Order: sequence, then C-alpha cells, then structure tokens
Amino acid sequence: MVSTKKRRRKGKVNRKLAAQESQERLVKILVGSARSDVYLMESSVRHIAKLSRRHRLAVPQTVRHLYCRNCLQPFRHGVNVRTRIHAGQRVVTCLSCKSVRRFGGGPKFHRKPR
Ligand SMILES: [Zn+2]
Repeated sequence: MVSTKKRRRKGKVNRKLAAQESQERLVKILVGSARSDVYLMESSVRHIAKLSRRHRLAVPQTVRHLYCRNCLQPFRHGVNVRTRIHAGQRVVTCLSCKSVRRFGGGPKFHRKPR
C-alpha cells in the first residue's frame, strides 16, 4: 500500500515539471508568433503569466520584456508601447494601462564602482 504522503510529494514534482514544460512550449509559441498573429500573442502571454504565477516559475528574461506586467498586453513597438532612454535608464511605458517600468542602473555617476 502506498501512503498518501508519498504520493502527494511525487505529484508536486510532476506538477512543477509539467508546468515547466508547458511554459517552454508557450514561450516557443509566443516567440514564433511575434509580430504576425496578435491574437495568438495575447493568449500565449496571458497563459505564460498565469502559469508562472500559479507555479512560481521565473519568466525567462527574453519573454519578460515582451509584455506588460500590469495588463498582460504583448508589446508591439510603435503601437502600444513607448520606449525612451531617460537618465541612463530604459523607460518602457505601456500605452494601454499607462504603467511604467524602468530597466537599467540609471546614470553612470550613480552606479557603484565594481
Ligand atoms: Zn499595460
């Protein structure tokens, strides 16, 4: 007889593995569909974000920059996103929900010497 405890732990590992696999598949779909099929991009972004939150997976860095974290819209440059360099930072503004994200360490004189 298999104890329920053991079975549950195995299920957890399987769940995480399955989630990782699904995430990879979704990332391929998103990257492959970029700029061609808006509907496909929207739905794959939504699924990636939901899946990663539910299973506490990190979203790959390449994909993290492809959509708005707030409203889950895929970024289409020149259409729904404004990108500016301001004081050494990349400032990305989502034009559908007006949320702003800043990337990079800021001006050079603010960075700590390594
Ligand atoms: Zn947004």
